[in-house]
Amino acid sequence: MVNSVLSLGADKRHALRVLADALELPRLEPGWVWLAGAGPGDPGLASLHTLHAISEADVILSDALVNKALLALARPDAEIVDAGKRGGKPSATQGSISRRLVAYARKGLRVLRLKGGDPFVFGRGGEEALALARAGIPFRVVPGVTAGIGGLAYAGIPVTHRDTNQAVTFITGSGADGRAPSLDWAALAKGSPTIVLYMARKHAREIARNLIAAGRNPNEPAAIVSNASLEGQTTLVTRLGALGEAAAVADTPALLVIGENVRLAAGLDWVGAMSGRLLDPDPLGKDRMSDAG
Ligand code: SAH
Repeated sequence: MVNSVLSLGADKRHALRVLADALELPRLEPGWVWLAGAGPGDPGLASLHTLHAISEADVILSDALVNKALLALARPDAEIVDAGKRGGKPSATQGSISRRLVAYARKGLRVLRLKGGDPFVFGRGGEEALALARAGIPFRVVPGVTAGIGGLAYAGIPVTHRDTNQAVTFITGSGADGRAPSLDWAALAKGSPTIVLYMARKHAREIARNLIAAGRNPNEPAAIVSNASLEGQTTLVTRLGALGEAAAVADTPALLVIGENVRLAAGLDWVGAMSGRLLDPDPLGKDRMSDAG
């Protein structure tokens, strides 16, 4: 029984190697660290670089939001380190993670640092890469599908759309000190038609209040997408003025999005359509505007 499970794993790893070789992709070499994104949840959104590195690594330091299904591709003898930091709970500190990456690489191991989404988007990948650079450790960065783009796509919300927003701003809802970020809300309210917020559940009320005080319409559409691209994905469509209340009861991990592009979900919620939701062919009400194409 155990043997058949192990050999199945070996088959999968072999298949990844064949694919990577066919595309002449680089291998994760001893003494190297790869900082790789795992995408927002659906394992199919992880890149081939990431999958291949999982299957080759001697040690994998994985974040809390990484889908555990991906780790089934690891070698049976790989060391898997839970390097997750969630909601400010005392766990591995950033400094200790960086030090461990350096120490493992110096031992000549093939080291994979696996992060949810994209490692350079609110993922502290930059800090870890800088620590490696300072220590003279060779590294590669493997971008991933970030939740604020790919997660919204799973909710049927295009992050940009010609008819609703020609710009988008990504914001972390939680500053370095854990408080709401101190940003120029007037500039954002005026200059950013769509605002996507990561880690913003806690401070949603304050952020919405700041935007409304700076001139945004409280009736503007807003949405909270929880567990994007995972089993149990939910989208709660609301308005800016009610975003704080909605966020208080939303499941995590959650993305908040504010802007007219949220309306498109009524026509593009393809995940909902798979379980019977009827899609509105004209979510922006453009029919009346003779949109012939
Ligand atoms: N580097 C990651 C973001 C890390 S910050 C990326 O590029 O996606 C963690 C935040 O990302 C969470 O608090 C949440 O706001 C968002 N997030 C990550 N995965 C998510 C998911 N599956 N559904 C909704 N939000 C998600």
